[in-house]
Amino acid sequence: MNLIYNFSAGPAMIPRDVLNQAKKELHNWKNLGSSIMEISHRSEEFIQMALEAEKDLRDLLKIPDSFKVLFCQGGARGQFSAIPMNLLNNLQTADYINSGYWSNSAFMEAKKYCTPRSIFIRETNGVKESLLPMHKWNINENSAYIHYCPNETIDGLSIYEEPVFENKIVVGDFSSFILSRSINIKNYDLIYAGAQKNIGPAGITIIIIRKNIIGYSSKMTPSILDYKKISDHHSMFNTPPTFAWYLSGLVFKWLKKQGGLKAIEKLNKKKSDLLYKKIDNSDFYINKINSKHRSQMNVVFHLVNPKLNYIFLKEASKTGLNYLRGHSIVGGMRASLYNAMPLEGVESLVKFMSYFEKRYG
Ligand code: PMP
Repeated sequence: MNLIYNFSAGPAMIPRDVLNQAKKELHNWKNLGSSIMEISHRSEEFIQMALEAEKDLRDLLKIPDSFKVLFCQGGARGQFSAIPMNLLNNLQTADYINSGYWSNSAFMEAKKYCTPRSIFIRETNGVKESLLPMHKWNINENSAYIHYCPNETIDGLSIYEEPVFENKIVVGDFSSFILSRSINIKNYDLIYAGAQKNIGPAGITIIIIRKNIIGYSSKMTPSILDYKKISDHHSMFNTPPTFAWYLSGLVFKWLKKQGGLKAIEKLNKKKSDLLYKKIDNSDFYINKINSKHRSQMNVVFHLVNPKLNYIFLKEASKTGLNYLRGHSIVGGMRASLYNAMPLEGVESLVKFMSYFEKRYG
């Protein structure tokens, strides 16, 4: 089979070495004669694996002891509900920073539980699209928390600035941002992420939460969404997605072997710089986002002549460059360059783009 590079936004590429290891261990994990999917989550072996996965994640992100790490279900959308249920704490409003599709989706869901405020931070000068810096966010004194999304997976927009808001709970939807670079966990109170981009297979959701904000859920919060319940039961109140947890653990070990977040951050910058440079040096392809806010994980670009979209995708796929179609809301193309995408994948894409431009430009 030819080498395939998968640019899907999620579920996305998983490192080849991780898949190979899982394949090797599939039928007989830890000499138990069974796969990990067939054993109890209460077994000594599973619990050991779960503890190791948490330790590796803590090492990677330098998570201090004042934070709990929870492994949950329900995806990031589950958290859109869990967050107001757990954090409103009798207040009636929360601030939702609106930078694109996903942050707005979180706002829409929060409306079921309170009267959130949407703070729109996108701006355009007619040519380039940009985002307001944090000091210009119009935060409400009486809000229970601020919610924002540092990487808009669909729009291809990122916020690299880290939040420092005094006396305010800060919540971040890190679904397509987590583990792509190092961050200072202490600047946040709650970080959550669905796994299917930079962590592992869909089905597991990671929450990193400051201990002192656990325990304030409203009465009607379902137990499986209640941070205290999940935390008290070591993320095993209900049967966890065991295979997804295991595979995520393998990804954490793989990431440590690559040199951790400093090394991957450097590589991620190199990959996205290469692709944006190709786009900027051409009048055949276009990206209108201000360079300060361009996503390194999801590079959105358009062909100036959209009539060529179909043929671009078809020919790319024949070359082994798959799933480049942009989200229907934005159109055009989207190349997702999560940690598992090697530099060679981006080099192949850039080479193909040059060839395509020569042929059809
Ligand atoms: N937030 C962001 C930033 C996302 O990219 C996604 C999924 N693409 C979601 C939320 C929703 O995630 P899930 O499907 O796991 O609920």
